[in-house]
Amino acid sequence: MTALPQERRVVTAIPGPKSQELQARRTAAVASGVGSVLPVFTTRAGGGIIEDVDGNRLIDFGSGIAVTSVGSSAEAVVRRASAQLQDFTHTCFMVTPYEGYVEVCELLAELTPGDHAKKSALFNSGAEAVENAVKIARAYTKRQAVVVFDHGYHGRTNLTMGMTAKNMPYKNGFGPFAPEIYRVPVAYGYRWPTGPDNAGAEASAQAIDMINKQVGAENVAAIIIEPVLGEGGFIEPAKGFLPAIAQFAKDNGIVFVADEIQSGFCRTGQWFASEDEGIVPDLITTAKGIAGGLPLAAVTGRAEIMDAPHSGGLGGTYGGNPVACAAALGAIETMKELDLNAKAKRIEEVMKARLSSMQEKFDIIGDIRGRGAMIAIELVQSGTKDPNPAATAALAKACHAEGVLVLTCGTYGNVLRFLPPLVIGEDLLTEGLDILEQAFAGV
Ligand SMILES: *Cc1c(COP(=O)(O)O)cnc(C)c1O
Repeated sequence: MTALPQERRVVTAIPGPKSQELQARRTAAVASGVGSVLPVFTTRAGGGIIEDVDGNRLIDFGSGIAVTSVGSSAEAVVRRASAQLQDFTHTCFMVTPYEGYVEVCELLAELTPGDHAKKSALFNSGAEAVENAVKIARAYTKRQAVVVFDHGYHGRTNLTMGMTAKNMPYKNGFGPFAPEIYRVPVAYGYRWPTGPDNAGAEASAQAIDMINKQVGAENVAAIIIEPVLGEGGFIEPAKGFLPAIAQFAKDNGIVFVADEIQSGFCRTGQWFASEDEGIVPDLITTAKGIAGGLPLAAVTGRAEIMDAPHSGGLGGTYGGNPVACAAALGAIETMKELDLNAKAKRIEEVMKARLSSMQEKFDIIGDIRGRGAMIAIELVQSGTKDPNPAATAALAKACHAEGVLVLTCGTYGNVLRFLPPLVIGEDLLTEGLDILEQAFAGV
């Protein structure tokens, strides 16, 4: 098979006729609760390009929601996963183990923050990792309460829906949710009433006061936070917030969990976003970027905490599937070999420079934020901070029509987020930004 050309190409309307035909079949056969950002049906993807059934080639600013950081057909991922497929597809690690699982856990111990003794357990999805982090923290502390934050996102299973902040589309009508989940403020600098410089100190003080007064620190098993909040709008908690919360957890025997499912594995220009303020989480949940697109997730953390559940208390039929583990080894090899942390930082440099110059022209860009290749703009009504979800949707639509796949997010639906594969060529990155700029002129 020839390599996928790294060029944008729009040869039909988007979606084109073949995609529309498939969409009609899909509508008849697939439950309508499962959405798609852009119903173009994919034939191939790799580097910074997604090719569809009509022969269009889209610039990928989404990476399948921060998953394919190494691209959607990275050589080492394909090679290692293919070799593993030939050897065996499954035994169940809980029945007869295999080396790949152990190797992934060894790499997680090496790459996650802190030099303490670490252990890991592997699962299939991010939500499953978060669920297991809660199980482990409860077993270790013998406490029940779980503290989460405004704008947080942790998944779609019952427990993780309850932990997620946003009602629509994640929770509406799906309750009742699991008990003992408590939500406290996060330092959202752009929207903090007394300004971003005060947000870190004030929000952490408020959060800690709420925990003490409403929950009781001695009842809290875990505090779980995304070091850069993903679905909530790429919110980087203002400086000082994360260290204050981590210290509070430490002082009160609470397990501090960093949910790095979206922010991990080079996405923010560091192996893990926690490193930015020198945070050493007790537990860290990973998924998305870990395995180049194959389903794999992990909980990694202090050996004594990870070993708290009784033998047989953790696991699952498919958790740490051998093909997914082989893919993870290929993805991590690629991250190291291509120095994808440096690539992510370069993407930030290029994007922020362009977005800043757009902000001077278009005053609906209220905020530009994020780190590495996890960058977003928050759109507002001119001259205010009132959210502008209509402009956000219109911009996304205009980009899609021109063959640039962008995603939206945010509690108010007014954040355009950019998550290109870290291996995207700089020409594609720049072209995608050119198209975004034209879209602004049209909105
Ligand atoms: C995507 C995500 C999850 C859920 O992962 P799934 O694999 O979709 O279950 C949890 N936490 C964060 C921060 C995420 O971005």
